[in-house]
Amino acid sequence: MDNSTLAIVVPCYNEEEVLPQTNERLCSLLDGMMRDGLAGQGSYILYVNDGSRDSTWQLIEKYCSIGAHVRGLKLAGNVGHQNALMAGLDTARADADVTVSIDADLQDDINAIPEMMKKYHDGCDIVYGVRRKRTTDTFFKRTSAQMFYRFMTSMGVKSVYNHADFRLMSRRAVDALCQYEERNLFLRGLVPLLGYKTDSVYYDRLERPAGESKYPLSKMLSFAIDGVTSFSVKPLRLIFDMGLIFILISLVILVYVIVALCQGRGVQGWASLMLSIWFVGGCVLICLSIIAAYIGRIYTEEKHRPRYNIEKYLK
Ligand code: UDP
Ligand code: MG
Repeated sequence: MDNSTLAIVVPCYNEEEVLPQTNERLCSLLDGMMRDGLAGQGSYILYVNDGSRDSTWQLIEKYCSIGAHVRGLKLAGNVGHQNALMAGLDTARADADVTVSIDADLQDDINAIPEMMKKYHDGCDIVYGVRRKRTTDTFFKRTSAQMFYRFMTSMGVKSVYNHADFRLMSRRAVDALCQYEERNLFLRGLVPLLGYKTDSVYYDRLERPAGESKYPLSKMLSFAIDGVTSFSVKPLRLIFDMGLIFILISLVILVYVIVALCQGRGVQGWASLMLSIWFVGGCVLICLSIIAAYIGRIYTEEKHRPRYNIEKYLK
């Protein structure tokens, strides 16, 4: 028999379409786990409402009043997936021995949770849920996600391939995570830094049963930029490499100009001049924007604003 209290943390943003299904499946899973002695009797599901504009919070309130093992945390506004998740973990660590975070759309297979708990009992502090294949995702989602992982690795960010935010963390791992005070949160890069004993369970990614993805391309891009700028300074070094290449190109042009002069032909210049001015100008601006991305992070980090505000906590 196991007495560790498990908290399943579910961030929700405009999820009214999928939440009824999610709640039903999570409740029966948790009941089963408590019956089988895989989770303590005080275990619960914690829905974090990330400033939804639809009836998500009303649903959560309803589930809290009927279900004995359901809790709801209402954030005062929309703070984004990562911060909402952090709010849930931070709240759960007060009384839960172990947390599992999972998206509200249940694209991650909840049947992996008992397996995660087994690994936890075997002494792991962190268990990653890793997608075996993503055939159910759209072609666009699959390739863009793959590009995302490639890009991150090439920029020197260590993250677990095909792992999103479906993971188990023990209380001390969450405690350690809460010590990291950064505002530009990229949890899947941060968790591997904790250093505790880690393992993975594998599952097939399922289709979103209802509702639509809250991660359009624009959000994914800014998420990628967040990830790179908070874990790697490689882009800054690439600027130096680019400078070297430009100097090399200018040397080649210099040789060409000297040879042409010696042969007595003046170098015709307008087109090449215009081209290079705009080309080099563009490159310089891109480099500046890379530097600006880092300065922007310094600016937001320096203010030390709270990550989220809690409006209500229903136990
Ligand atoms: N989410 C959130 N705040 C946001 C955007 C998303 O809490 O501002 C939640 C959302 O409700 C879901 C999870 O983050 O539980 C992942 O979102 P989604 O499934 O849309 O992303 P995808 O699986 O398409 O990457
Ligand atoms: Mg999803």
